[in-house]
Amino acid sequence: MNGLGFRNHMLMLALLPAILVAALLSVIYVSWNFHEVEVALKDRGRAIAKQLGTAAEYGIFSGSREMLRTLADAAQKGDPDILGVAILNERGQVLVRTGDSIPLPLELPESEALLEKPDRIVLVVPVNRTVLPLDDIYSEPTPGGRSLSRTSGYVVLDVSRQRLVEVRNTQMLIGLDIALGGLLLGVWLALRMARGITRPLIHIIDVVERIGRGELGARVIPEEARTLQSLGHNINAMAERVTLAHGELQQKVAQATEELRKRKEEAELLARMDVLTGIPNRRAFMQAAEQEVLRAQRYGSSLTVAVLDLDHFKTINDTYGHAAGDHVLINRAALLEASVREIDTVGRLGGEEFAILMPGTPLPEAIQAVERIRQAFEQNPISDGDQLIRATASFGVAEYPGADPTVDGLLAKADGALYLAKARGRNRVEIPAQKTIDGV
Ligand code: GH3
Ligand code: MG
Ligand code: MG
Repeated sequence: MNGLGFRNHMLMLALLPAILVAALLSVIYVSWNFHEVEVALKDRGRAIAKQLGTAAEYGIFSGSREMLRTLADAAQKGDPDILGVAILNERGQVLVRTGDSIPLPLELPESEALLEKPDRIVLVVPVNRTVLPLDDIYSEPTPGGRSLSRTSGYVVLDVSRQRLVEVRNTQMLIGLDIALGGLLLGVWLALRMARGITRPLIHIIDVVERIGRGELGARVIPEEARTLQSLGHNINAMAERVTLAHGELQQKVAQATEELRKRKEEAELLARMDVLTGIPNRRAFMQAAEQEVLRAQRYGSSLTVAVLDLDHFKTINDTYGHAAGDHVLINRAALLEASVREIDTVGRLGGEEFAILMPGTPLPEAIQAVERIRQAFEQNPISDGDQLIRATASFGVAEYPGADPTVDGLLAKADGALYLAKARGRNRVEIPAQKTIDGV
């Protein structure tokens, strides 16, 4: 997972509400303050106009323009927001005016009027003359004998909104500051969240990915997992189980592989071994003979083979039984194995026929060795219960190479010698008959 993308998502998630709240707060703040200031400005204008009206009442009545001018000037000078002042008589004629900002003539209102412009407010306030009942003896007395009032003129004030605009600008700046402050707070909170949540998450994701890649030793570090320690703990527990299962699986695979290897070895051995006697079978013997023939060819070393066949074995079987015959075969094979050198190979070619492969042995030495074996056969009858079974053998010995320099050729030559031994009375060692010049 892309850590940065996730982190940005988290940041946005934390920042969005903060931005909205900051913007809303600043809008509320600015509009609320602006309204307050506007109301205050109008109230102030009204108060000045009323005050001026009261003061100007006599001046209007008496037509004293000088007095009215003094009042108008004083009112304007007394407040920097007042751009102009005008005092009108009851018919709307201008008695005095300061500056020419007030748009005259004006529509005269019954009561106080307010002309709102973007940059100014024009206030028109009627000046009421207080009429005592004594003043007008012809008029109808008022109920309760209270005084009556009549409009004797108008005070017009031109109030600048400049300061209001300035205040609004200031408020907007403050609002902007609030928004910015909110935003910064949001960023700070988001970064804290990022550290508190995204970093542990990124660490956990990294560990899970490493485990997925086969790095089974990877674990969540509690200090790194921080706020997500419980998740990290569960992932570690899961990783432990995975590691354990993986170990068990590997062990089972190793055991199965070993078992298979052993079985294969056993099968291979069985394929090369004679089941009854435990010595190499014909196939294994022939393979060994092939190797030794190659060696003898390459190095010119001596190689002799002896083939032997138990004498009158059929009679042994017939006399003592097949099991006793098997026992004799096992015994003679063991005696053969015990009688030869380590580098020699003994094999059962089939039935009661065996062979001995003697590398590096010239024929005379081989004959001597085979003669010793023959004697051992003769002198060691096999005990079977309370009886002894005599089991001699006839031997044919041949040296490599002959006319046919192959394994089969060598064995055939030895077989020929064995045939001679049988023919010459058995329990003997013979070599191939020497051919005479005339072939006899
Ligand atoms: P010779 O002296 O001419 O070799 O006579 P022989 O009786 O040994 O030869 P023959 O070929 O007539 O008989 C061999 C006998 O060996 C016949 C067969 O039943 C027996 N035989 C072959 N293999 C086994 C075996 O594995 N176990 C037993 N008990 N007998 C076997
Ligand atoms: Mg035989
Ligand atoms: Mg035989």
